Amino acid sequence: MVTPRRTCVGCRQEAEQAELRRFVLRQGRVVADPDRSEPGRGAWLHPDPACLELARKRGGFARSFRGAANPDALEATGWPEGGAGR
Ligand SMILES: [Zn+2]
Repeated sequence: MVTPRRTCVGCRQEAEQAELRRFVLRQGRVVADPDRSEPGRGAWLHPDPACLELARKRGGFARSFRGAANPDALEATGWPEGGAGR
């Protein structure tokens, strides 16, 4: 069985899906999807503050969500503290 691989929107490195956290866009806000159950496009990110910072600086979320994302809203998700353990 092939392990799904995703590209981190921060460092742009490919990694196994299990190593990354999924984010989705909901009402224009980037929110964590710890159960990976939300419909729609997802953005994948290492559970690493450095990757989050890169994603914000480089507009990784905006690219994944076609410019619709407001990455500043990430502040309210509690990530990575709230999601890094999954
Ligand atoms: Zn990364």
